[in-house]
Amino acid sequence: MGAKERYQRWYYNHLEEARETNRVRQWAYYERNAEKIRERAKKNRRPIPYDPIKGRARNAVAYAIRVGKLTKKPCEKCGETKVQAHHDDYSRPLDVRWLCSRCHGIEHRRQDSCRLQPR
Ligand SMILES: [Zn+2]
Ligand SMILES: [Zn+2]
Repeated sequence: MGAKERYQRWYYNHLEEARETNRVRQWAYYERNAEKIRERAKKNRRPIPYDPIKGRARNAVAYAIRVGKLTKKPCEKCGETKVQAHHDDYSRPLDVRWLCSRCHGIEHRRQDSCRLQPR
C-alpha cells in the first residue's frame, strides 16, 4: 500500500469517527433538551395550508411586474408606496388592487368578517 492510499484510508477512518462523535453529541444534546426542542417545534408550527390557486396568482403578478405588464401603484387607501398586490378574485390573477401591508391586513379582516355575517 502506498503512502497516498494509507493516508486516504486514515482520513476516511477518522472522518467516520468524527461523524460518529458528532452524531453522539447531537443525540446527547437532544436528550438533554428534548423538552425545550419539542416546545420550540410546537411554537414554530404554523398550520397554513398551501393554496395552489393563491400561489399561482401571486406568481402571475410577480411575473407581470417583471415584464412590465403590471405596475405597482401607491396604496389605494393611504398612499403608502411599499405595496402588496391584493386579489379580490384569485381566478383573475392580474386583476389586483395595490395595498400597503397595514391596509392589506385591514382589508382581509374586513372581508373575512363579511363572510361570517349573513347578508
Ligand atoms: Zn395603506
Ligand atoms: Zn389581499
